[in-house]
Amino acid sequence: MEALYLIVFFILGTLMSSFFCVVGLRLPRGENFVKGKSACDSCQHPLALYEMIPLISYLLQKGRCRYCGEKIAPIIPLSELIGGLLYAISYYIFGISIDLLIAIGVASLFVIIFVTDTTYYIIPDTVLFFFGIYFVILEFLKQGLTGILSHITSAIILFTIMYLMMLLGEKLFKRESLGGGDVKLLFLFGLVLESIPGFLTIFLASLIALPSSLILLYKEKTNMIPFGPFLLLGFAIVFYNQITTAKIIEFFF
Ligand SMILES: [Zn+2]
Repeated sequence: MEALYLIVFFILGTLMSSFFCVVGLRLPRGENFVKGKSACDSCQHPLALYEMIPLISYLLQKGRCRYCGEKIAPIIPLSELIGGLLYAISYYIFGISIDLLIAIGVASLFVIIFVTDTTYYIIPDTVLFFFGIYFVILEFLKQGLTGILSHITSAIILFTIMYLMMLLGEKLFKRESLGGGDVKLLFLFGLVLESIPGFLTIFLASLIALPSSLILLYKEKTNMIPFGPFLLLGFAIVFYNQITTAKIIEFFF
């Protein structure tokens, strides 16, 4: 039974991520993502339902459009896979609960920002706003007003820390190193995490981003890397491992 649920959540995750991909690719270009037929990005040929099955269509068509033969952006199956896995992990860890809805929100946010930040180097405000409201409602249902107030406090603390890091980065590197979207993203993390685990997400993100940016610098001669997906990765690690302030203190002392 448990395995069946895991499969259901995996499939749900791939389907949702398929939609999030459309949102992530269209929203920053100001295109409508709710209406409008699904079509190939290159030849605009409308897609049949069986050509839109997450992961499977991509594999069957060997990663190409059936009409024009153009390659399908690999970010699409990749986000579907990430989404499917994160949804299944969410169910595995939290079971049927309010925490599961929060976890699914974290997974969804991960997929959308992965798409927008790696494609356009932006984190759209609309996305942050939507998930901000979503997390506030769920935290309220979970812990009531006191819970929400403490989370808004962590949100403000994390936002401030990230903002100061952005200013410091600009002073040190004489150019923009962190985007405003990264700073606002930390506010969102605070709505779900306590401030110390929230700070840990920044630390983990930097730790993971450093080798990746060195590789990119060496291979692609570019030092422009989106930090959002790394922040989300740090966030996912802390959130799914349920790392709390108490656990961090226990770890160090
Ligand atoms: Zn095509």
